[in-house]
Amino acid sequence: MKLRVLGCSGGIGGNLRTTSFLLDHDVLIDAGTGVGELSLAELVMIDHVFVTHSHLDHIASIPFMVDSAGFMRDSPLTVYASEETLDILKQHVFNWKIWPDFAEIPNARQPYMRYRSIGLGETVVLNGRKITPVPANHVVPAVGYHLDSGKASLVFSGDTTTNDALWKVVNKIENLRYLIIETAFSNSEKDLAVLSKHLCPSMLATELVKFKRRETEVFITHLKPGELELTMQEIEECVSGMIPKMLLNNQEFDL
Ligand SMILES: [Zn+2]
Ligand SMILES: [Zn+2]
Repeated sequence: MKLRVLGCSGGIGGNLRTTSFLLDHDVLIDAGTGVGELSLAELVMIDHVFVTHSHLDHIASIPFMVDSAGFMRDSPLTVYASEETLDILKQHVFNWKIWPDFAEIPNARQPYMRYRSIGLGETVVLNGRKITPVPANHVVPAVGYHLDSGKASLVFSGDTTTNDALWKVVNKIENLRYLIIETAFSNSEKDLAVLSKHLCPSMLATELVKFKRRETEVFITHLKPGELELTMQEIEECVSGMIPKMLLNNQEFDL
């Protein structure tokens, strides 16, 4: 399987897009503004969206994609997330005030969109591709995702701050080839990182000490626009024993 980065920034501006990954041609992991990279024909081919959490930078494109592509599809787009996250989406986004409830459009029997809740450790298998939520620790209910092709795995942390539970799971993944982990702030904004339950380079360094899979390639996502170079430089200075790379838009991972 192939994973393509559609958006990996903490914000927008110029070419920057917020979090979204395309798995093969039919699955999205988060649906931030990066989804805007896809053509209408490509949007129509998306059958599944796995959401890490309800923050706007990770879900902003879901309302637009169901609206744009729904009537061109013959089955609903399935949105997977934790029960808590789905409740937030229903209550605060698809509530007929911010956006229509596409789980009832054009009718409740054959809607453009449907919800499926998944819990931590519960694996969804789609044509042999295994997708499993892993623990995250953020200001709203959140998960990361473990993607496993059978040959190799990739873990995406989602938005998270320090979290021992993640490393317990990740350290057990024998075929882990790639880890994508957030670092949303630079060290000078550590207070904000703690408050908003994200990571800064010094916190990332403490977390990576708990990471035992030294053969895994580590990539950094969710960098704040305007602080890319600074944050990456601080990561290089703080983290020892490995050199995490900056995740780039349109980067592809083979699994
Ligand atoms: Zn968030
Ligand atoms: Zn975010």
